[in-house]
Amino acid sequence: MEKIAVVGAGLVGSLQAILLAKKGYQVEVFERRPDMRNVKLSAGRSINLALSDRGWKALKMAGVDEKIKETAIPMYGRMMHAEDGTLTPQAYGKEGQAIYSVSRGGLNQTLMNLADQYENVHFNFNKACKDVNLETNQLTFSDIETKERITYQPDRIFGTDGAFSAIRARLQKTSRFNYSQTYLKHGYKELCIPANSDGTHQIDKNSLHIWPRGEFMMIALPNIDGSFTCTLFFPFEGKNSFESIKTEEDVLSFFNTTFADAVPLMPDLVTEYFENPTAPLVTVKCEPWNYSDKIILMGDASHAIVPFYGQGMNSGFEDCSVFEEMSTNFDGDWAKLFKEFADERKPNGDAIADLAIQNFIEMRDKVADESFLLRKKIEKKLFTKYPEKWMPLYSQVTFSHIPYATANAKGKKQEKIMDTVMADPEIEKKWDSDEIEHHILSLI
Ligand SMILES: Cc1cc2nc3c(=O)[nH]c(=O)nc-3n(C[C@H](O)[C@H](O)[C@H](O)COP(=O)(O)OP(=O)(O)OC[C@H]3O[C@@H](n4cnc5c(N)ncnc54)[C@H](O)[C@@H]3O)c2cc1C
Repeated sequence: MEKIAVVGAGLVGSLQAILLAKKGYQVEVFERRPDMRNVKLSAGRSINLALSDRGWKALKMAGVDEKIKETAIPMYGRMMHAEDGTLTPQAYGKEGQAIYSVSRGGLNQTLMNLADQYENVHFNFNKACKDVNLETNQLTFSDIETKERITYQPDRIFGTDGAFSAIRARLQKTSRFNYSQTYLKHGYKELCIPANSDGTHQIDKNSLHIWPRGEFMMIALPNIDGSFTCTLFFPFEGKNSFESIKTEEDVLSFFNTTFADAVPLMPDLVTEYFENPTAPLVTVKCEPWNYSDKIILMGDASHAIVPFYGQGMNSGFEDCSVFEEMSTNFDGDWAKLFKEFADERKPNGDAIADLAIQNFIEMRDKVADESFLLRKKIEKKLFTKYPEKWMPLYSQVTFSHIPYATANAKGKKQEKIMDTVMADPEIEKKWDSDEIEHHILSLI
């Protein structure tokens, strides 16, 4: 039986292990961390995530979607919090369409539990990958506890070891391997809005809350225990920045001025601000994602992106579903399968990486803007009337399976059309008119 090593038991590795197990391969999963099912998860590290259609499709293929849905909270739209506390809701898609807030740890553990049910899957925890011999396919691990060196020689390697992948690091040393890593000037810090004493949520639980403030923003996603995980996206340096906030007074003065309506909801704000880590935001691009018929990279290992489209995990899960579809009529030619997969996914990984950066500007700055809201209203009208002709970019990315690169290209074309339409000085008065509608249709 073909021996497969999955290196990294995060979200993508655990899901991929299930899909490979279903095909009957002998799957050895190696994970640097201890088994998260037996240890307390650390606070302040991306506690929840937005799961959307691309992710659900892959989870369904693995047969785990229903289980995940039990604890997923639908968020039907954004809820914008203005500085004066005014709330403006904005639906994400059509009636009933939602993105779902899920617990990262819960999702990872459910996937591991399911993978464990297959006799042909075996997890190896505390094993940090240190090297791969590209000629023999031999992997070398260091046991985190005993420091012992362990080797394993599989037929194929799935590198799912995240943004700082050891497998990719080895490929970076091969000839003609392209790699780039770009950090934003912003980092993030997680904070908490706890539940009411009766376990209910303090603010609307079916929205993704945003406090857009131009150069920076805070968002909040609901958890099933009634709390919200807030994430402050903030510059590392400058006037308002992680660097400039040094004391308790600084924290309170900044939050009271900038996020005044949130402060009464966050009793542990100051402690959490100083205790929770500040983490960077990186985009990683590389090519090729495969090494002959031996190694394939998936998830953040090949395309780590910033979180502003809520698509990092979703795109990694889509890697799994696309690989699954491509291997349906597999004829045993691994080199062909790996290459086809890598060639197909690479442009899509690049596209969602670029879209995620663009969406940061939209989320932190434009969502509060009148003309942006009017733009969205016009697009919504078009989508409702002519769904086959116009789908807003957000819906293409979040509620469809259109390849990201196609969505990006279509989105750019639509943006140009909207720029022309919005340049009309009377647009506010006549946005709903036949004239505007015909004008747009003539430009498509
Ligand atoms: C603040 C924040 C918010 C986010 N929000 C969203 C969101 O709302 N929606 C969304 O879709 N995505 C979101 N993401 C992105 C998402 O977290 C990632 O895309 C996703 O976790 C990628 O999964 P992965 O399995 O590829 O990598 P990871 O989840 O990073 O898993 C990699 C695994 O490999 C292990 N590992 C690493 N190195 C080694 C080694 N040398 N040997 C063995 N094991 C190793 C790690 O311990 C880890 O378990 C967010 C990210 C951040 C930072």
